[in-house]
Amino acid sequence: MAKTANEYRLAFSGLEEGIHTFEYVLDGRFMDVAAEMAGGQADDALPFHNPEVKVRATLHKGERLMELHFDFEGQAFTTCDRCLREVAFEVDRHEDIFVKTTSGKDAPMQDDEDVWWITEAESELDLADYFREVLILSRPMQCFCPDKADGTSGCDPAMLALYAEEKETEGQGNDPRWDALKALRDKIDD
Ligand SMILES: [Zn+2]
Repeated sequence: MAKTANEYRLAFSGLEEGIHTFEYVLDGRFMDVAAEMAGGQADDALPFHNPEVKVRATLHKGERLMELHFDFEGQAFTTCDRCLREVAFEVDRHEDIFVKTTSGKDAPMQDDEDVWWITEAESELDLADYFREVLILSRPMQCFCPDKADGTSGCDPAMLALYAEEKETEGQGNDPRWDALKALRDKIDD
């Protein structure tokens, strides 16, 4: 796992075997860390901003195997896919991860979706990159402004008008005269 100096770490080496809980807060401070990981372009490179998310981590520590359960709860913001206004989305996920220790060089070192490999030399987990991924995955494929109480779109009316105009222009491409011309041309090609 990549090493970054941040507080989104879980130091496990000094812990006794058994169950331990940790809490993390993903907020403005986390955005700074996430932006750094994304190359310092937070707003453009990340599909979320202003997160207000609490993470509760439960660690079951065994001799060679650790089990981690994460509960993410809160919300973050993104831009509406229709009008670019700020819109909130819910972050509500439960994730189970196995952390396995490898002693040899040949053991799989690639992180799996739910299995993380660490070496015996490692004493802590850096969770920042993982948290960032979870926030990205929590954003719905399409985010729109919620409809108003009267059922009309909550999107920026100026942007909606712009789209309607664009659609109209597009519609002109389906002019029946063009279709007739195209049919004629296809006939000639034959
Ligand atoms: Zn919108």
